[in-house]
Amino acid sequence: MSRILIIGAGIIGLCCARALRADGHDVVVLDRDPPGDKCSFGNAGGLGITEFIPASVPGLAWKVPGWLVDPLGPLSLRVAHFPKLVPWLLRFLKSGTWPGVGRITAALAPLAGRTYDDMLPLLAELGLMDDLHRVGALWVYDTAEGFAADARFRELRRRYGVVCEEIDGAEARRMEPALSASVQYAMFTPQWSHVSDPKRIVDRLREHVEQRGVAIIRGEAEAIAGTELMLADGRRLAFDRLVVAAGAWSSRFAAQLGDRVLLESERGYNTTLPEPGITLGREIIFAERAFVATPLDMGLRIGGAAEFAGLDAPPNYARSDALAELGRRYLPGLNTKGGTRWMGHRPTTADSMPVIGRSPKRPDIVYAFGHGHTGLTFGPTTGRLVAELIADRPTAVDVAPFSIARFQ
Ligand SMILES: Cc1cc2nc3c(=O)[nH]c(=O)nc-3n(C[C@H](O)[C@H](O)[C@H](O)COP(=O)(O)OP(=O)(O)OC[C@H]3O[C@@H](n4cnc5c(N)ncnc54)[C@H](O)[C@@H]3O)c2cc1C
Repeated sequence: MSRILIIGAGIIGLCCARALRADGHDVVVLDRDPPGDKCSFGNAGGLGITEFIPASVPGLAWKVPGWLVDPLGPLSLRVAHFPKLVPWLLRFLKSGTWPGVGRITAALAPLAGRTYDDMLPLLAELGLMDDLHRVGALWVYDTAEGFAADARFRELRRRYGVVCEEIDGAEARRMEPALSASVQYAMFTPQWSHVSDPKRIVDRLREHVEQRGVAIIRGEAEAIAGTELMLADGRRLAFDRLVVAAGAWSSRFAAQLGDRVLLESERGYNTTLPEPGITLGREIIFAERAFVATPLDMGLRIGGAAEFAGLDAPPNYARSDALAELGRRYLPGLNTKGGTRWMGHRPTTADSMPVIGRSPKRPDIVYAFGHGHTGLTFGPTTGRLVAELIADRPTAVDVAPFSIARFQ
């Protein structure tokens, strides 16, 4: 069995560690701060089995200027970061054609289709089955135009087995009485679910893999040198196989090997309200405003936003406040006092597909990053796929479309 080094103790790195350890490998996970804050902690907690349609779709480009000038809009961009963003943006826009959407959807749908096959055994192993709420999600719309514009995506989802029930605003309010009268249309997706606390899953998983013999090491990975990883403090860690699961920070390691990738930090924000004053039975997706509200154990989490400002710019928590304000518009009884504001770096590729597969330059190095909006959802399946690749077993899902080679 091999000595496998994994960079990154987020949901992806830890799911890889669990699957590789189950195969009997000697596994080490390196993270600059293993229990510290990361994207995998503060997400919306949704198992988004519908989320196999890419972000870039025909018509999206026309919405961008309006979003950018709207202080409550879902998109923002820091001017200083724009020059670095251009190659990613061009590829993002280029993939937004109907054939492009069809191709990406066909690649991602089988990944989404495995969500429960791989998530349920993980939660059972962690003793967290009660943390999974299989109550569906409600997508709400204010306008007939917005609802009609998404008809094509509902059809696409149905084609891959997703149940999309179309209901009116009154029915949506019967399901979720806290919703405002502005909601006119809705779609109920019963197969969706959410968890009680995404951080609890990652924390429990880290402890669990450690108990099973995985070594978790604190340290900053700096460079790959042959079959050693050089750390910032001068330590060197030898490996037979290396898994790069460093989330939004992964591209620097790919670059060292000469593998090009278009990966950005798509910074997302939320506010978690400890005493929201209202109750939701399930996650609500405010489709025309691109934000969500999830009832978690610690309160109601209102999250979303896509901010392109790179990895180092300080958070702009006004975006968290804007999300809470939007929440109040749609949930009139919402108490926004005492909220906790948070920002996380979604690792987002230009074509909305993760990078899962061997480096074409170094077959002993496997990539597992770029999960964008669906890292919690696709994490356990990604772990399985990485273990299958390393064992040279047939993969449960075709990983060819997820190869980093697509960016060359
Ligand atoms: C607002 C928001 C809402 C979201 N909602 C959902 C949702 O409802 N459902 C869903 O499925 N997904 C959701 N996501 C996406 C999901 O959270 C991410 O896709 C996922 O957390 C990515 O996991 P990761 O392990 O790749 O990255 P991370 O969790 O960021 O982990 C990467 C780790 O790598 C470490 N690292 C990086 N560089 C180095 C280095 N040089 N040396 C050592 N360690 C290093 C970091 O310290 C970090 O711990 C959401 C994201 C956001 C921001």
